[in-house]
Amino acid sequence: MTVILFAIPLFFLLIGIELYADRKRKTGYYRTNDAITSLSAGVLSRIVAIGHQLIPFTIYVLFFDAVAMFELPQAWWVWVIAFVAYDFFYYWNHRLGHEMSILWAAHVVHHSSEDYNLTTALRQTSGAVFSWIFYLPLALVGFTPEMIITVGALNLVYQFWVHTQHITTLGWMEKVFVTPSNHRVHHAQNRIYIDKNYGGVFILWDRLFSTYMPEKEEEPVVFGIRGALKSFNPLWANLQIYSQLAKDSYYTRSWTDKFRVWFGRTGWRPADVSERFPKEKLPLSNFRKYHPHIHKSVTRYSLLQHVIMLGAALYFLLNLDTLSGMQQMAIVLTVVVMSIQNGFILSQSKLALALEGPRLLMFPLLWIASGIGFAAWCFALSSVVGLVMLLFAVRYSNYRRPIEEVRLSTEPENLA
Ligand SMILES: [Zn+2]
Ligand SMILES: [Zn+2]
Repeated sequence: MTVILFAIPLFFLLIGIELYADRKRKTGYYRTNDAITSLSAGVLSRIVAIGHQLIPFTIYVLFFDAVAMFELPQAWWVWVIAFVAYDFFYYWNHRLGHEMSILWAAHVVHHSSEDYNLTTALRQTSGAVFSWIFYLPLALVGFTPEMIITVGALNLVYQFWVHTQHITTLGWMEKVFVTPSNHRVHHAQNRIYIDKNYGGVFILWDRLFSTYMPEKEEEPVVFGIRGALKSFNPLWANLQIYSQLAKDSYYTRSWTDKFRVWFGRTGWRPADVSERFPKEKLPLSNFRKYHPHIHKSVTRYSLLQHVIMLGAALYFLLNLDTLSGMQQMAIVLTVVVMSIQNGFILSQSKLALALEGPRLLMFPLLWIASGIGFAAWCFALSSVVGLVMLLFAVRYSNYRRPIEEVRLSTEPENLA
C-alpha cells in the first residue's frame, strides 16, 4: 500500500503528460466520462483494499512461520528472484481471472473501459479479495511476507505505464517484457486477441505457455469487452458479471449447472438458460463506444465533482491514522456516493442530477458534524462552487435529449 501511495503523484504526472500529448496530437484517446469512471473505480478499489489489506500479510506471516522450508536472506539477488517468481504466479492468477467465471466477475472491471490510456491502468477491481492465495508458494519456499507484499506492489506499479497508445512498439523489449503494444492486445475484444498476453512484467510466461499474441497491423485493437458495460457507474462495473452469474445460476434447473455457472469456463452458460434468455452477439464491426451526449456544462460539473471526490479520497488515505471512526465513515460515504452519483450523471440520469442539490447541502454538514475541521470547510466551499455550476448545468443542459451512442475511434472531435 505504501509503495502504491508514493506512486500516486507519479501516476497523475504521467496522466497529465499523456493528456497533453493527446490534445496536442488530437488522437482522441481520452474521453472525460470514461476516464472519470476509471479513476473512480481505482479510488473505490483502494478504499475497499484498506478493509482487507492486512489479510494477505497476516496469512503470509502465519504460513511463513508455520511451514516455510527456509528463511531466504534479504540479499539483492533474493529480491530479484522474488520479483520474477511473483510475476510467474501473477501470470496464473491473471490467467485464471480470465478463464473462470467467478474470477472474471472480479477482474472484468479492469477491462470494461472502451478507451485505452493511463487512467485505464487505475480502473481496478474492488473484488480481488482472494488473489493472495496464488502467492502462498513464495512464503512456502522462504520469501519473507514483507518481500512478497513489496514485489507485489512493484509489479502493480510497473503495469501502469503500459496502458498507453502513444508508444507503438519497443523492439527487443516486446520479446521479454510486457509493453504497451502487447498489453493493448490483452485489452482487445477482437476474437484473435482474446485470452492473450496475461503477463504482468514479463511476457516470457505467455511465450512459454502459448498465450502470446503480438499486435498486428492488419487487426487494429478494439478496446473493451464483448458484453459491454454501458454504464459509467463504478459500482455497477464491479457488480455486472456477478449479477449475470447469479441470474443464470438462479434460473437453471440443473443443480450441477448452478455450481458450474460460477466455477466453469468464462462465457459458459447452462443450455436451458441460454435458450430462455439468449444473449445477442453482434459482429465487432457493429461495435459503438458507449457515449451518451451530455451538455458541456454537465460534463464540467461532473469533472469538478470528480476532482473534489479525488481530493476527499486522498485526504482520507493520507490521514487514515488520525481520523476517528465516525470521520472515516463520513468521508468514505461521501466518496462512494459522489462516485456513483457522478457515474449516473455521465450516463445521462436526470434523477441523479436532481439529487445533486440535496447532496451538495448534506455532505458538508456531515463533515462539519463529524469534527473534520478545516478540510470540512474547504469541502463546504467547493460544494458552494458546485451548487452554482449545478444551477448552470440544469439551466443550460439539453438533458432531455435521448441517449445517443457514437463511435469515437474515427471521430475524435466528438470528445465531451
Ligand atoms: Zn486481464
Ligand atoms: Zn491492463
